Amino acid sequence: MTAEAIVGIDLGGTQIRSVLATPEGTILARYKTLTVPNEGQAAVLERIVRAAEAVILQGRGRRPRGVGIGSAGAVDPHGGTVLAATNLGWYGVPLQSMLSERLGLLVVVGNDANAAALAERRFGAGQGADNLVYMTISTGIGAGVVTGGRLLLGARGFAGEVGHMTIEPEGPPCPCGNSGCLEALASGPAIACAALARIDGGEASTISDIVGGDHTQVSAEVVARAAADGDAVATGVIRRAGFYIGVCLVNLIHLFEPELILIGGGVAQIGTLLFDPIRATVRERAIPAIREGVRIEPAALGDDAGMLGAIALFQEYSRD
Ligand SMILES: [Zn+2]
Repeated sequence: MTAEAIVGIDLGGTQIRSVLATPEGTILARYKTLTVPNEGQAAVLERIVRAAEAVILQGRGRRPRGVGIGSAGAVDPHGGTVLAATNLGWYGVPLQSMLSERLGLLVVVGNDANAAALAERRFGAGQGADNLVYMTISTGIGAGVVTGGRLLLGARGFAGEVGHMTIEPEGPPCPCGNSGCLEALASGPAIACAALARIDGGEASTISDIVGGDHTQVSAEVVARAAADGDAVATGVIRRAGFYIGVCLVNLIHLFEPELILIGGGVAQIGTLLFDPIRATVRERAIPAIREGVRIEPAALGDDAGMLGAIALFQEYSRD
């Protein structure tokens, strides 16, 4: 007798990471490889196939029920097509049918942030929450919204793009072409950029010392380190980013009335310095009767959220 298992794949612009896991989310095997999207779609597809086969092989006889994949970009989980993933350069790629043919297994494809929301709900900090907003803040900002126990997908799978919600109409430019999006105000690169603008404006900061004067090395992580040592510029920049995230959450709370908001991704690792201004902004700006029922907490699954999310996606949509 062999126990059941599912393959979960996190397809990002930089890395492809895979696991073989039980339906309860216990990881049995892991594998990772680089994506190298500029080598083309066929090469990336080969690497995805290898990522699946590698963990199946390590599973020694555990025949997987199927494969879940969380992909960057907009994905229709019913059709399994990656509609638009700019960091892969993919538009209208029928990933589900291509992969299912190669592997001879049932395949379910979904958006990576949506997948992570499902993972937190099933295996992480969101267990038991039927109304949940998950936000991931790193190089970009993504989110997944669960309402009434179901993932919000929108008409074609684009729902939950809170990173491109306009927060400051006259704000800095965003890679999407608009300006003042949350992503342009509170993502890792936005935090680094805001700190550099203040240093260039003549403010003294230990950020310059940390990078030995090489300002191209300033990242959100460097800003967080300076803030932990009490640097005024770094603390101010992080407080401002927290304020913007808080403003976005005020909008989301009024729209969805979640019981729980989970924040993950590299930037969330900043911790209290970021969460304090987020919670304060929600306290100040959201209608008390609505916000009183909302908890704002760090996500629990860290780097595994994407892969476990792919497992959760498979469980959610292979039944439909
Ligand atoms: Zn944008």
